[in-house]
Amino acid sequence: MDRKGLIESLKERKFSKQIVGAFSKVKRENFVPEDVKYLAYEDEALPIGKGQTISQPYTIALMLSLLELKKGQKVLEVGSGCGYVLALLSEIMGKKGKIFGVEIIHELAEKSRKNLKGYENVTVHIGDGKIGIREEAPFDRIIISAGYKKIPKLLTGQLKEKGIIVAPLGTKYGQSLISYKKINGELKLKKEVPGFIFVPLVD
Ligand code: SAH
Repeated sequence: MDRKGLIESLKERKFSKQIVGAFSKVKRENFVPEDVKYLAYEDEALPIGKGQTISQPYTIALMLSLLELKKGQKVLEVGSGCGYVLALLSEIMGKKGKIFGVEIIHELAEKSRKNLKGYENVTVHIGDGKIGIREEAPFDRIIISAGYKKIPKLLTGQLKEKGIIVAPLGTKYGQSLISYKKINGELKLKKEVPGFIFVPLVD
C-alpha cells in the first residue's frame, strides 16, 4: 500500500477529517528505520529498534478517536518511541496545543527529537512515563502507547477533571483499548475495544 491507499482506508473506516488529515500530513516513512521504509504505508506495526515497534496506523487512528481531541488541548503520550504519534497529535491539536511525550529508552527519545524538528508544540522527556510529568500536569488528555495491567495511579492524578485517558490494558498476551473519563476524581469507563497486542510498558 502507498500513502494514498492508507489514507483511503482510514477514510473508509470513518475516522474524522482531523484524524485523516493528520495522517496525510505526517510522513510515516520519516519515523521508521531505513530498512523498513518501503513498508511505511502498510497498515501494520513496524520495528523501530531496541525491540520496540511503531503501532499499526489503524490502531493509532482508533486511539486518537477514542481520545476525543479538541484543538488547543494539553496532551501527554506515555511511550512516545520514535515520535510518530506525537507528530500526529501536533497536527490535530494545532499551534495552541501542547504535546508532551515520555520515552524510557534514551536512544529512541533522542531519535524522536530529531524526527520532530520543526514541531514547535511538542516536547519529549526521557524517563518512566508511569510517573507522568509532574511539572507539566494536569493534562486534558493522556494516551499510553504500551500495554499494561492498569492505569498507573500518578497518571490519573495528572489528568484534568473531565479529561480522557486511553490505554491498552490487559496481560502481555493481549489487551483491550480502553478509554476512561475522569469524573469527580475517579476514572469512569467510556469504551472498551478488545483484540490488541502492544509492546509492554516496562517497570
Ligand atoms: N507511539 C510510539 C511507539 C510506541 S511503542 C511511536 O509513535 O513511535 C511503546 C514505547 O513505549 C516504546 O518506545 C517503549 O520504549 C516505551 N516504553 C515502555 N515502557 C515505558 C515506560 N515505563 N515509560 C516510558 N516509555 C516506555
